[in-house]
Amino acid sequence: MRVAIAGAGLAGLSCAKYLIDAGHTPIVLERREVLGGKVAAWKDSDGDWYETGLHVFFGAYPNMLQLLQELGIADRLQWKEHTMIFNQPTAPGTYSRFDFPDIPAPWNGIVAILRNNDMLKWPEKIRFGLGLIPAILKGQSYVEEMDRYSFSEWLQKQKVPPRVEKEVFIAMSKALNFINPDEISATVLLTALNRFLQEKNGSKMAFLDGSPTERLCQPLVDYITSDGGEVRLQAPVKEFLLDDDGSVRGFLIRGGTGDEVLTADAYVSAMPVDPLKLMLPEPWRQMEYFQQLLGLEGVPVINLHLWFDRKLTDIDHLLFSRSPLLSVYADMSNTCREYANPDKSMLELVLAPAADWIGKSDREIVEATLGELEKLFPQHFGSNRPAKLLKYHVVKTPRSVYKATPERQQHRPDQTTPIANFYLTGDYTMQRYLASMEGAVLSGKLTSEAIALRAPLRCGLRANDSNRGVSL
Ligand SMILES: Cc1cc2nc3c(=O)[nH]c(=O)nc-3n(C[C@H](O)[C@H](O)[C@H](O)COP(=O)(O)OP(=O)(O)OC[C@H]3O[C@@H](n4cnc5c(N)ncnc54)[C@H](O)[C@@H]3O)c2cc1C
Repeated sequence: MRVAIAGAGLAGLSCAKYLIDAGHTPIVLERREVLGGKVAAWKDSDGDWYETGLHVFFGAYPNMLQLLQELGIADRLQWKEHTMIFNQPTAPGTYSRFDFPDIPAPWNGIVAILRNNDMLKWPEKIRFGLGLIPAILKGQSYVEEMDRYSFSEWLQKQKVPPRVEKEVFIAMSKALNFINPDEISATVLLTALNRFLQEKNGSKMAFLDGSPTERLCQPLVDYITSDGGEVRLQAPVKEFLLDDDGSVRGFLIRGGTGDEVLTADAYVSAMPVDPLKLMLPEPWRQMEYFQQLLGLEGVPVINLHLWFDRKLTDIDHLLFSRSPLLSVYADMSNTCREYANPDKSMLELVLAPAADWIGKSDREIVEATLGELEKLFPQHFGSNRPAKLLKYHVVKTPRSVYKATPERQQHRPDQTTPIANFYLTGDYTMQRYLASMEGAVLSGKLTSEAIALRAPLRCGLRANDSNRGVSL
């Protein structure tokens, strides 16, 4: 069966990969000249990579880890020490750590929290632990119910002291969805805490050993194309053409030499929710299923890359800046093999919340960030021989992952739509993970399964299916 997929982000590519495994023929159409969507990266004229986002993989990403195993590239993940490192705003240039010992969950997480005395005092830890009891006892159904509240409201409801939010959860909330705890749904934080506390290595982090485009997306493309699938760049889908019964007749693609209609047996949107909403054909807009999408909207975020004339830190890990301007950052010259440099730092930093910054010039954004770096690295910027910025790249994403404010869960659509030959995939669709790389990969897999279910294989098993554990 031919399946046309609009979008070569992780969801579209994962959907295509699993369709290949099920014996189908995907044709992936990507609007841009680069693979990966929100994990896309580019090489500048010096040969240095810059990325849409600083990306961290977690131990609690079973579908991503399985995908990497299946592609034979699991060794590309560079696993870091099992710890979480936070800057200390009151003592610039110092860090506070949550070190997870090598014992079973949830004890490793509990010990990590109990051992950290810089950020939380004992009564605060006890109050927070008591607040979490309903989530531990009642599980995911309770976590889903809490989507009514922002995380700030949930903390107040559970009588957790406000300092807990200020010390730990502003940083976590910005890292998870680029917004503050008074905006983010309690479900998002509680889901992450659940995964981190229930799985021994859930919060263990890894960095890819190079650019996601080359080291993660390209192997997916090789896998898809080696078995008859296609991935076409600079092939933007302009319109979903409909038959009289409202089903899809073809994708209209805007090509360099003129428009083209691509026909297939099934069609998938792997586009982000914002452009999808704009492209919905008129007859679909009245349907409740598609109307629910109106409740989802991408959140702005900015990713910065700053190259310096010297080494600012030796820390080989993600850092939670706890800066009002910035979210997480890492010295990629330490964390990523392909970006390694023993003498000079390349900081990759996420600026969030970014609503007030997205319209500003790159220069203004970099200057404000350098101001924050004086607090993060006083030894290199406060001195009379400050670190010199050699060059920078700023990547703005005005609408990134959907903004996970309260009551958004009910707007996340199933991968199967009311249109017989049309499916959705993407991190925003309903799956048990947050809008993340893991969520995107899982959604792609779920969509491929939905297609295979509705339209069972017509062409028989491929020669090498037996190696892939396909069960029919
Ligand atoms: C700054 C930043 C940091 C992040 N950090 C992390 C992290 O540390 N860990 C983590 O797990 N996740 C992280 N994420 C989230 C993660 O990147 C996304 O959740 C995931 O990559 C989304 O994949 P997707 O395939 O659902 O969507 P996308 O990646 O958005 O893919 C959609 C694709 O559709 C294409 N498209 C759009 N319109 C058309 C059209 N008309 N025709 C054809 N193609 C079209 C787009 O160009 C794009 O390639 C981060 C995201 C950002 C922005």
